[in-house]
Amino acid sequence: MSIRCFECQSPAGDAPVCPACGGLLEVVPDPVDLDAPALKELFRQRRFAQHGPDRSGVWRYRELVHPRLAEPVTRPEGNTNLYRHDSLSAYAGLAGLQLKHEGENPSGSFKDRGMTVAVSEAKAQGARAVICASTGNTAASLASYAAFGGLPAIVVVPRDHTAPSKLAQSMAFGARVAAVRGSFDDALRLAEQASRSHGLALLNSVNPWRIEGQKTIMFELLDQLDWQSPDWIVVPAGNLGNTSAFGKALAEAKALGLIDRLPRLASVQAAGAAPFYRLFHNREAGYQPETSPETLASAIRIGDPRSWKKALFSLEVTDGLVEQVSDAEILDAKAAIDAAGIGCEPASAASLAGAAKLRAAGVIDEHARVVCILTGNFMKDSKTAVAYHQGALEGIPSKRANRPYEMDATTTAFAGFLDEVVVQGTA
Ligand SMILES: *Cc1c(COP(=O)(O)O)cnc(C)c1O
Ligand SMILES: [Zn+2]
Repeated sequence: MSIRCFECQSPAGDAPVCPACGGLLEVVPDPVDLDAPALKELFRQRRFAQHGPDRSGVWRYRELVHPRLAEPVTRPEGNTNLYRHDSLSAYAGLAGLQLKHEGENPSGSFKDRGMTVAVSEAKAQGARAVICASTGNTAASLASYAAFGGLPAIVVVPRDHTAPSKLAQSMAFGARVAAVRGSFDDALRLAEQASRSHGLALLNSVNPWRIEGQKTIMFELLDQLDWQSPDWIVVPAGNLGNTSAFGKALAEAKALGLIDRLPRLASVQAAGAAPFYRLFHNREAGYQPETSPETLASAIRIGDPRSWKKALFSLEVTDGLVEQVSDAEILDAKAAIDAAGIGCEPASAASLAGAAKLRAAGVIDEHARVVCILTGNFMKDSKTAVAYHQGALEGIPSKRANRPYEMDATTTAFAGFLDEVVVQGTA
C-alpha cells in the first residue's frame, strides 16, 4: 500500500497534500493474491461473522481497502439496506429502481465508511488529535469515531448552515466545536491551516483513506447484487468524495475481475451549489468555484469541492455525467422517500430527484437497473421536514405536504378531524 499524488504521481508520505505540486493524494492498492471467485467467497463467508472487523461492511472488504491494519476503530459500519419500493419506482418512472441507504450507518451517514479507515489510520500513525471541516455529518462521524477510538477531535462547522441534530452529535460525542460565521468552504480552509500549523490529522475527504473507506459503498452494493453491475448508479454530489471513491472502486473491481461491466455514474448537484455540473457541461471554461452556494440540502451546500479532478476521472472511466436539481425537486423527492416509510435527509434525495429527471429526459432508459444512493438519515434534519410539511419553506411549493391539524382538546373538535381524515378519507 502506498500513497502518491493523483496529479503528478510523486510518492507522498503522510503530508495532507502532494509535497511536490500541492495536488490531491490517492492510495495505490497492493496487488491482491486471490482471484475474483476466491475473493467473492471470502467476502461472503465473512458476512456470517458474529464479532470483530468481519462484521463491518468496510473491513469485510479490507483486501481492497487497507489490508494491514491490525486493530481498526469500527462500530461496525456498513451493512446498509438496498430497498425497492413501488411508489419510488413510479416516482422515477423506473421499474428497476433500488435505493441503497447509507443513512443506516452508525452515526447516520455514509461518512462512517471513510471515517473508520481514516481514524484507524490516524491512530495507528500516532496522531495527537484529528480535525475536520464539515456541514455536519463529517463532524458527527469524526466525533463518534474519535471518541470510540480514544482520540481528541476538533470540528469546524459553519454556524448558520449546520443542521442542529448534526451539531448535537458533535457536541455530545465530545469533540471541540468551532462554529464559524462563514461557509463550509471557509471552515475547510481553516481546518487545512490548522492541520499544517499544529500537526493535526486532517480527516476531510482530501484524506485519501476516507476515499478508500467510501469505496466499500460500491463493493457492498455489488456484493448485494451478486456482482452483477446495475446500469446506473446515481449519487448526491457536494464535496465529491463519493463520486471520486465510486469511480475508483468500480475501476478496481473491474480490474480484479469482480465485475465484467462498469455501471454508469450520475452525480447530482443542487442547482444552487453546482460548480461541478457547470464544469462538466462547459469544460472549456475550466473549473470555477461557486462563491455563494445556496441550497436547503445543507450537506451539499459546497461551492469549492476539493475532489473535482478525481471526480472528473470517475465520470470518464464510467462514461458518467453530472445533473443538477432544484431544491423543490430535492424536497419533493425526499417527501416521496419519506412517505414510503424509508426516510432520508434532504441532500440524499438529490439522487432520486436526479434519477427522475434523467429518466424524464430520456438519458436513463425506462428498463435500466438503477441504484440511487441515499447518503444520510431522516433524523439528521427533521427541522426541514417539519417546515416542508407545514408549507413554511420560502420558494418551495411543498407539493406533498402532510400538515398536522391543530385543534382544541375537545371531543367536538376531534370529531371534526376524524370526520375529515377517516370518514371522508383524506388520510
Ligand atoms: C457529505 C454528504 C454528501 C456529499 O457527499 P460528497 O462525497 O462530499 O459529494 C451528501 N449527502 C450527505 C447526507 C452528506 O453527509
Ligand atoms: Zn503532485
